[in-house]
Amino acid sequence: MDAKKLISQLHGLKTVFDDKERELTALDREIGDGDHGVNMKRGFAAVAEKVTDGSTQEILKQTGMTLMSSIGGASGPLYGFSFVKMSEVAKDTIDSNNLADLLDVFAKTVGEKGKVSGGEKTMYDVISKTADLLREEGSLDLESLQALADDTEDMVATKGRAAYFKENSKGTIDPGAQSAVYVIQALGEGVKNG
Ligand code: ADP
Ligand code: MG
Repeated sequence: MDAKKLISQLHGLKTVFDDKERELTALDREIGDGDHGVNMKRGFAAVAEKVTDGSTQEILKQTGMTLMSSIGGASGPLYGFSFVKMSEVAKDTIDSNNLADLLDVFAKTVGEKGKVSGGEKTMYDVISKTADLLREEGSLDLESLQALADDTEDMVATKGRAAYFKENSKGTIDPGAQSAVYVIQALGEGVKNG
């Protein structure tokens, strides 16, 4: 994936989050404050408007800065800072090895910034498993990514607003885990082993 393709994938997320706003809002209404759909939509609308050219490194960094300044809530700094950190390891052309490195950095950044580990019912439960998924499967398909988000349904939230719901947070997919499926699908689109 070269810079041109990366821009088009990131711009494509504006349309994705236009489509998925209601889904994410519905999830965040169950175990949060109902703003995750609108947050992601606002964030990637800003990316489509403001991030228009540059190298892969510059694009990822600008995307991160834009997400940080345009998404309110817990998810803005987590996604935003992660894109900035990913820009530091990106190559000019992102192949499957480099993408696995980016995803490792994505997980490490969310883990550190969110003070979160696996099984706490957050976006981390999806993000942290994708580098290995890519290394094992050779590509990232929507079905495998969605299965990771689906696994959060039975978890009890211990981080973020959903933690206030305690046992009642069970039975709903974590909204950030669901949005991470779309973000990572966009990064992985067309990137295959070999
Ligand atoms: P807010 O919770 O402030 O309303 P959003 O609704 O935009 O922000 O985002 C909620 C999502 O953020 C959650 O579904 C979860 O995946 C993620 N999240 C919240 N807190 C943390 C954390 N400490 N670590 C990792 N992810 C988190
Ligand atoms: Mg929310």
